[in-house]
Amino acid sequence: MSANVRNLVEGQWVDSVTGRTLERRNPADERDLVSVFPESDAKDAEAAVSGVLAGWHEWAARSPEQRGAVLERAAAVLEGQRASLVEELVREEGKTRAEATMEVSRTPMNLRFYAGEALRTTGQTIPSSDGSLLFTSRGPVGVVAAITPWNFPLNIPSRKLGPALAAGNGVVFKPSEVTPLMGNRLVEALLEAGVPAGAIAVLHGGAEVSKALVADDRLDAITFTGSTAVGESIHSVVRASQRTQLEMGGKNPMVVLEDADLDRAATLIAKGAFGLSGQACTGTSRVLVHGDVHDALVERIAARAAALRVGNGLTDGVDGGPQATARQKENVVGYIRRALDDGARLVAGGPDAPDGEDLARGHFVRPTVFTDVDPGSALANEEVFGPVLAVLRVGSLDEAIQLAGATRFGLSAGIVTDDLGRALRFAREVPAGLVKINQTTTGQSMNAPFGGLKDSSTQTSKEQAGEAMMAFYTADKTVYLSA
Ligand code: NAD
Repeated sequence: MSANVRNLVEGQWVDSVTGRTLERRNPADERDLVSVFPESDAKDAEAAVSGVLAGWHEWAARSPEQRGAVLERAAAVLEGQRASLVEELVREEGKTRAEATMEVSRTPMNLRFYAGEALRTTGQTIPSSDGSLLFTSRGPVGVVAAITPWNFPLNIPSRKLGPALAAGNGVVFKPSEVTPLMGNRLVEALLEAGVPAGAIAVLHGGAEVSKALVADDRLDAITFTGSTAVGESIHSVVRASQRTQLEMGGKNPMVVLEDADLDRAATLIAKGAFGLSGQACTGTSRVLVHGDVHDALVERIAARAAALRVGNGLTDGVDGGPQATARQKENVVGYIRRALDDGARLVAGGPDAPDGEDLARGHFVRPTVFTDVDPGSALANEEVFGPVLAVLRVGSLDEAIQLAGATRFGLSAGIVTDDLGRALRFAREVPAGLVKINQTTTGQSMNAPFGGLKDSSTQTSKEQAGEAMMAFYTADKTVYLSA
């Protein structure tokens, strides 16, 4: 059954003024139409921002307790829809049922966490020279645009809309055109829980409407998660005074030292590289392994990659779903072909689609592993965002740290070793916003700050948790009071 997804503008669910629509089909089976949704343009964006500018004060005027209670209720609404959300998420994005269950469970937890933030936002008092009261007061920033990718279509929006609403802001939300239905499910839950429809807008469509939205200089802040190329294009058009938080791509390395337990290392690497079909921003895309254990590790990783079963995420026993779009698959297969042309050695997977008649209807790629990868090649430096792993040989921890930091990205980096001293040195020196020791490069605790370094982030604040996260969504004033 397909859903009719609409925009939310000036408090009403509406079609685009263009009258144009797009279709979203199940990436595991193109016969399955998941939704039809608006292809919005600049006029829709203009109306959406105007609507929230007119409507957000009602929400800001609610007490922090009331705003927190609404977020708590939204969490409960989502929990009540758990089974149907898991099914829809698998059909829309292509995750496996287990991966979708994790995301659907995490999203209400996020909203509850941000419900608490509504009450935890505090200012400071400052000693004054004349005995008057001198203090800082924090309030909402105003109207925040949230632009999100498709790979966590509930979780990432919830960690933007949650804190933005907790602080009393209005929000214009632009979900990915790959996952419009999940975007609406989140907003429907927020409205059902009591967010006034005027305080939030949803705009569906692709780059056209998103570009128009970020060019609207009435916005007070923009929070974006997506590719580095798009993030940089947004950065080039925003006003100097517009708060901008851009969380972008990665090329995450996992270092394996010669003392590592190789079975443990291979399991962590396979999970980090092939989980979510390689479509996690923190996914392992490079292995930097000490030469002494290179061959033994490669053999173990290749065996794990070959054993993974790719298929429709709703089928029992499937380990990995499809790539989210046909374009995404083409791009990933293009990197595999280019790596072959560049002389890398294929040890698992490859450019050909996996066998199986039912798999021909979806965008499937086999978990793929290359060794002998040239450090200057595209595969060693560019974000593939698919199940493709590059293994490079290193001779020392120094060389591993140097190579780990040799790309433009700095999102996540891991190391497998029992040597605590070398692990801590790696944590200190590797240029990455997230460092994982004997863990997968993917996965984070919801109550820990998250964000990249280098070209993975504007580094204006951290996301997800912590003082810096909430600072993005609040504006400070310094108040001098004499009675
Ligand atoms: P994308 O950059 O193509 O799209 C992200 C969003 O931006 C979408 O809503 C899209 O419609 C919109 N958009 C597209 N072109 C635009 C333009 N010119 N101006 C303004 N908006 C535009 O990314 P994607 O393919 O949806 O997601 C995959 C990327 O997201 C990967 O690079 C991945 O690493 C990154 N990602 C990063 C994080 C993180 O926290 N750092 C988390 C998840 C995904």
